[in-house]
Amino acid sequence: MKRENTIEVPLGKIKVGGKNPIWVEAMGREHPAQVERSIQEIKRVVEEGGEIFRLAIPDEDALLGLSQIKNQIDIPLVADVHFNLDLGIKAAQLGIDAVRINPGTAGNKKKLEELIKIIQDKNLALRLGANTGSLPPHHQKENRVEALFHSLEELISILEKNNFKNIILSAKSTDVEETIAIYDKLSQTFPYPLHVGLTEAGEGEEGIVKTSIALGIILREGIGNNIRVSLTAPDPALETRVAWNILKALKLRARGLEIISCPTCARRKGDVVALTRNLKQKVREKKIEVIGKVAIMGCEVNGPGEAKEADWGIAFAPRGKALLFSRGEIIKMIGQEEAEEELLQMLIKEMEEKKP
Ligand code: SF4
Repeated sequence: MKRENTIEVPLGKIKVGGKNPIWVEAMGREHPAQVERSIQEIKRVVEEGGEIFRLAIPDEDALLGLSQIKNQIDIPLVADVHFNLDLGIKAAQLGIDAVRINPGTAGNKKKLEELIKIIQDKNLALRLGANTGSLPPHHQKENRVEALFHSLEELISILEKNNFKNIILSAKSTDVEETIAIYDKLSQTFPYPLHVGLTEAGEGEEGIVKTSIALGIILREGIGNNIRVSLTAPDPALETRVAWNILKALKLRARGLEIISCPTCARRKGDVVALTRNLKQKVREKKIEVIGKVAIMGCEVNGPGEAKEADWGIAFAPRGKALLFSRGEIIKMIGQEEAEEELLQMLIKEMEEKKP
């Protein structure tokens, strides 16, 4: 898939944009003053593959926590100060990797120039994150895509006059069509990397579906340098998993197993749902890190075909039996009660063999 080119912007130990991977970002729910809880939250996200973490910095207490968190976390951290440029300046002085401000609300030009100066001196990044929920008053009569665009354009022109280039852009809407339209426009206009997301997507299936459609289309067009999934959920580990599933489905990044499992029907000869759930859980618990495809199929109709295409597979058969496949070959017929353990052992063997 051809990617739109952008400049590269440093973000802690990584770079965003250019030919770098599309990074996965998550945002904390905890107040950073709750240092230990925040650190645990970030560690859960890192376990799920989170590569950039954003913390809301609403007050001075959050700043105090931020410096302690920064000492114990080695993925890039972004301080989200929205409109409070004083907090942004202090976060940058503390050595945070990036500051996120909202062009709709961060209006003090003198303070902005002060923030830019520190960010420039320390070679940090500044994310300009526009949002349909906080459009500047003088753009509120425009349609929302135009308003998002113009609010960013105004701020970018101030930054460019100050010869500032370490910019990451985002413009988020709650609407799928608006989100696609604004990212198309940003990508055609500016050379800066794009952080892509659909804001306030909602809870559960509704949020996951809306986000996947919007991000799927934008990423498929070759646009986007890091992504964030904004779900109403108590733990950002979920948004991290969803983000990875989007990237994996588009074959833009590879991480862990892809499990293909049939929906089951009246032809099924075994419990596909239980085996799939149990296998996923065991892979997580045992920290089995293997890149590949596992197929779990309910019967001999589509089962052997899909299982043969996968790296490893099970197709349930009559009379409590199951066919075990590896790399397109039938290995053996086993009892269904052995299926989970047999698959796990194949995955563990693969992991051992691939160890450097
Ligand atoms: S693989 Fe078999 S059990 Fe599964 S959905 Fe297809 S026909 Fe039904």
